[in-house]
Amino acid sequence: MTRLHDTLIVGAGLAGSILAYRLTLAGRNVLLVSDPSIPSASRVAAGLINPVTGQRLVLQGGIEELLASAQRTYHDIEARFGINILHEREMLRVFRSGKEKEIWENRIRDSTYHPYIDCKLHDDPCINMNHGAFLQHHTGYLDTNTMLDALHQWFREQKILIEAPLLYGDVTIEAENIQWQGVQADRIIFCEGWRSQKNPWFDWLPFQPVKGEILTLSTDSTIPAQMINRGKWLLPINKETFKLGATYERNELNETPTEDAERELLDAMEDIFLTRPAVRVTDHMAGVRPGTKDKQPFVGLHPEHLQLGIFNGFGSKGSLLIPWHAEQFTCYLIDGTPLPEQADIRRWHGQSPG
Ligand SMILES: Cc1cc2nc3c(=O)[nH]c(=O)nc-3n(C[C@H](O)[C@H](O)[C@H](O)COP(=O)(O)OP(=O)(O)OC[C@H]3O[C@@H](n4cnc5c(N)ncnc54)[C@H](O)[C@@H]3O)c2cc1C
Repeated sequence: MTRLHDTLIVGAGLAGSILAYRLTLAGRNVLLVSDPSIPSASRVAAGLINPVTGQRLVLQGGIEELLASAQRTYHDIEARFGINILHEREMLRVFRSGKEKEIWENRIRDSTYHPYIDCKLHDDPCINMNHGAFLQHHTGYLDTNTMLDALHQWFREQKILIEAPLLYGDVTIEAENIQWQGVQADRIIFCEGWRSQKNPWFDWLPFQPVKGEILTLSTDSTIPAQMINRGKWLLPINKETFKLGATYERNELNETPTEDAERELLDAMEDIFLTRPAVRVTDHMAGVRPGTKDKQPFVGLHPEHLQLGIFNGFGSKGSLLIPWHAEQFTCYLIDGTPLPEQADIRRWHGQSPG
């Protein structure tokens, strides 16, 4: 017997899971198919939320709406499932050079930055601050694993999660719908993370995936309560445990942890502290970020086959970007509200992916 659905979503990382959650709350009859044996970046990510990023301290466009939507979505999930996933923490940003400090001095002349970066230098006797440091506000992290576990359990209870691979050859595109293994859906939306670059219907989109690795460390030394960023970041989870990340590797795209990355991260940690804490590596994970050429997401329907869609390309900022884009995409799919131009995949149609 054929199962009828409005929307078949492929991939239950942050993108697919939050989109499925939004569409289900909006009354859509969603089916989610995801293969737990295919690695998910969301299961590796530290979930940092940071409005001002990079050496040039660039403020994320549309930050107020993005932050408001992230808070709304994550607090709603916390209340619904009785979990604690959004941890708001200040971030100590440590300059690595006089040049970085100059950039900060320019930024604090711009009042749009004032809610997000402190205008005075900050001191900490344990941290190596020969060029200075300042505090960033509206920063924090999302406990992505706790959230995904809760959402997946909810999907399982409603019998709308199939834990299996989807093979492209098994999808048939009909005039008004798609068919896949006894399922008929008005639409299929691909949320496969970086693997979408091999998707035959969306391989014209210029993905730029970037591998990253993260360590989890335990220590008996005292570690600071706030997050620290000195190119690499340190995220305290509790008094004895912190995460240290992340590396960026564009050539070797796989989910295998490497000794080189472990050394790079531990060296960076030595540069953060005045006295190196004694640490033990308790976990080491690797994943691939679904980056894009213009650093903007890929959202929308296929220009020729409107039964096919994509919700992807959230790079290294999934925790901040996905809730707002999921709201916008839901409005587009239900009411036809135009998509945000910067995310709409039509910007790339007809162009070479090179
Ligand atoms: C090391 C590292 C650190 C990061 N740190 C941060 C951070 O601090 N803050 C932040 O916001 N972001 C961070 N990110 C980025 C973040 O992980 C991504 O933006 C986000 O998780 C992308 O989610 P996604 O759902 O698009 O992809 P994924 O999480 O990769 O999900 C894709 C899903 O699709 C499934 N799938 C793929 N193909 C198929 C198929 N054919 N059939 C069935 N299922 C399939 C996979 O199993 C997976 O579940 C980091 C990423 C990495 C790798």
